[in-house]
Amino acid sequence: MNEPNLPLKKTALVWSDAFLGHDTGQHVETPNRAVAIREALRSPAVKAERPYVSVQPVSLELLERTHDPRFIAELHRFGAAGGGWVDGDTWLGPDSLEVASLSAGAAVEATRAVIEGRATRAFALGRPPGHHATRDRSMGFCLYNNVAVAANAAHAAGIERIAIVDWDLHHGNGTQDIFYDRRDVLFCSIHEAGNYPGSGWPHELGNERGEGFTLNVPLRPGAGDAAMLRAIDEIFTPAIEAYGPELIMISAGFDAHHLDPLGNLQATELGFAQMADRICQLAEHYCENRVVAVLEGGYDVRALARSTAAVISVLDGAAPAAAIPAAESAHE
Ligand SMILES: [Zn+2]
Repeated sequence: MNEPNLPLKKTALVWSDAFLGHDTGQHVETPNRAVAIREALRSPAVKAERPYVSVQPVSLELLERTHDPRFIAELHRFGAAGGGWVDGDTWLGPDSLEVASLSAGAAVEATRAVIEGRATRAFALGRPPGHHATRDRSMGFCLYNNVAVAANAAHAAGIERIAIVDWDLHHGNGTQDIFYDRRDVLFCSIHEAGNYPGSGWPHELGNERGEGFTLNVPLRPGAGDAAMLRAIDEIFTPAIEAYGPELIMISAGFDAHHLDPLGNLQATELGFAQMADRICQLAEHYCENRVVAVLEGGYDVRALARSTAAVISVLDGAAPAAAIPAAESAHE
């Protein structure tokens, strides 16, 4: 449990109305997700005086620390030519690269605010999501890898060890790819076994200098909160304790929720709140409370809004059970 006298500032919530752009048409990764997040930000539980962090487009220099410059140039050429499907399920429309640049920029600005001490914790609430984008490929609704771009920005600012916990339903293959042979990121992913993109097995542990700095826990369909918490407690926590991170980041997807149409991990809002609480306890011990969450998936908009609000309350210092939003009233 957190100490009752923890001197936490309220979590900075990094948001832009521009996330309502990037119109994907009849797609689950839709601007309606941003509408739901905006509603959550206006809810009484979340509305509070908070450190303000503005959203800036990510610089090309920072993008090129994470992505192959030829891939970035090719994506821009594709966009300038009118865009279209980047792969079977990743859409790039007229404003998509601008919005993607802001989504990565939100993760960077959230991270800067925390490492510069303007906020203790921050949550970047952008879309499109990022964790499937590899060094040289957009995929799985993701154009740029927001959390990886932000982690590399933190490295550039002098942070040497970052733990990333990815609890999205899907394996964070892009983040794994980008940091696979490095030890300046400890990448820990929980996901539904066999779901998209099919990677993330326990034997995928990193390569060369990075060996042992990637941890994957694929869970059976239906696994639920208890199994996800066990992965954090029994596999990630000892590794994070041994690693001693200076910053903990969360790839916070909410598609493991039991209402989500894309999977079957059967998590609840309380489960997300409890996972966030475990991470906050680690951050309290190892990195002066510093946690940066970056939104990934979550495709049932009501579950997305409620789960996001619950995690924000925990980042603010609430106990998990107290962080669950009240049930909606009948007129909603
Ligand atoms: Zn996902």
